Amino acid sequence: MTSYSDTQLLINGVWRAASDGRTIAVRNPATEEVIGKVAHASRDDLDAALEAAERGFQTWKNTSAYDRSKVMRKAAALLRERAEGIAVLMTLEQGKPLAQSRMETMGAADTIEWFAEEARRTYGQVIPARATNVLQITIKDPVGPVAAFTPWNFPINQVVRKLSAALCTGCSIIVKAPEETPASPAAMIACFVDAGVPAGVVNLVFGVPAEISEYLIPHPVIKKISFTGSTPIGKQLAGLAGLHMKRATMELGGHAPVMIFDDANMDQAISLMSMHKFRNAGQVCVSPTRFLVQDGVADQFIEGFKAVAEKLKIGNGMEDGIDMGPLANDRRIPAIEKMVEDAISKGAKLLTGGRRLGNKGWFYAPTLLADVPTDAAIMNEEPFGPVAVINRIKGVDEALTEANRLPYGLASYAFTTSSETAMRLRNEIRAGMLTVNHLGLALPEVPFGGIGDSGYGTEGGSEAVEAYLDTRFVTQAI
Ligand code: NAD
Repeated sequence: MTSYSDTQLLINGVWRAASDGRTIAVRNPATEEVIGKVAHASRDDLDAALEAAERGFQTWKNTSAYDRSKVMRKAAALLRERAEGIAVLMTLEQGKPLAQSRMETMGAADTIEWFAEEARRTYGQVIPARATNVLQITIKDPVGPVAAFTPWNFPINQVVRKLSAALCTGCSIIVKAPEETPASPAAMIACFVDAGVPAGVVNLVFGVPAEISEYLIPHPVIKKISFTGSTPIGKQLAGLAGLHMKRATMELGGHAPVMIFDDANMDQAISLMSMHKFRNAGQVCVSPTRFLVQDGVADQFIEGFKAVAEKLKIGNGMEDGIDMGPLANDRRIPAIEKMVEDAISKGAKLLTGGRRLGNKGWFYAPTLLADVPTDAAIMNEEPFGPVAVINRIKGVDEALTEANRLPYGLASYAFTTSSETAMRLRNEIRAGMLTVNHLGLALPEVPFGGIGDSGYGTEGGSEAVEAYLDTRFVTQAI
């Protein structure tokens, strides 16, 4: 088994400690033990990263798309070779079962490759002119050095989408990766370094998130921001980016509705949704949260979902056969406890779970609440934990009214065999993503992003590449 390693900063192609030697402890959420430390960047380190990113940008934007693509594909190959060791680091620092860490790491290699290919097909247009002696063209340029801020729930996946889009277009990047789960994203970034990405193109820092974002976002070197995290923090950072006229992609919270109708394939709805709800202990921005189940199948759904929830094997993600690990940090336990207690006090029925498991490690039981009133906090705030709310609905009108009630609009799910119902959902749901009768989100080639309070911009598909490009127009008369 790979042992856990301390994490350093990457500045101008060199892995190193913070200039003042400061570090932050990293804990294993399954045991609460300190397993290592991560370097805490000083202001001098941030200045060095900015200078490196500016120089790295000059080199990388003048590297051909063909050569950038080659480096990226080599990084993807190295990541696949090293996936087993990197997955272990992820499980030790984040808690998710090893199989999920492996999937995340291998999936990141697919993402890198997809963007590497897309890079070679990114070019401007010739626009037919109104006069025969005029040539009108658009030119696509990389926006410049990017500052990316990523959370702890998918330590690699959240970084790789921003990193790949930036690199494929010719941007350099400073990644502020999560202090709680630093080693696995650093190991992924090491694949780029070892694949030959020039010094300064990719830089990695850690520290106090607010201090780093407040310094980097207004800094003149930085031309684009990408943030994944909670809506309140996203609004703050988007405000700061706006104040300094920086491009921004905001991947924020969600509160995904799942609409299940009487005509649904119930075996499919139960098996897919129970697996999806408890993946990564529910700490997923697209995690299904509000289950809106039509009266005719509600009892069947509850019975099936509850049976799965109660059979899940909970434990240390390093052990064989574990379905769900601990929550990733100690803040999540009181946050979930408070939401569950609030819902019960307002009249919700607790069907299963509703308690912390053991007293070592941040484990919380898979929890189902039914008949939860709309004024309960959990109906309005992202639970970000292994808790599902199941409420009954009469039909598609009520489903859409409830699904669209919140200001969030990230993922949504539906199960129906009626093409008429599916058509209404397609037309009327207010969410960045809708997946009907299967789980089809988060592939590199499809858009991934929200609307409303869930943010703006997409981190998948061709539009994700556009977010890192400026379009310039040149018209010339001969
Ligand atoms: P949080 O809101 O403080 O932090 C969320 C993420 O944002 C963390 O990675 C953190 O490092 C970063 N962050 C916080 N303040 C920042 C700042 N000023 N500048 C730059 N980055 C900053 O809280 P938390 O306890 O880590 O998580 C709480 C909630 O955040 C969760 O309940 C969930 O709703 C949301 N969250 C969402 C995602 C996602 O994938 N969309 C991931 C993690 C957390």
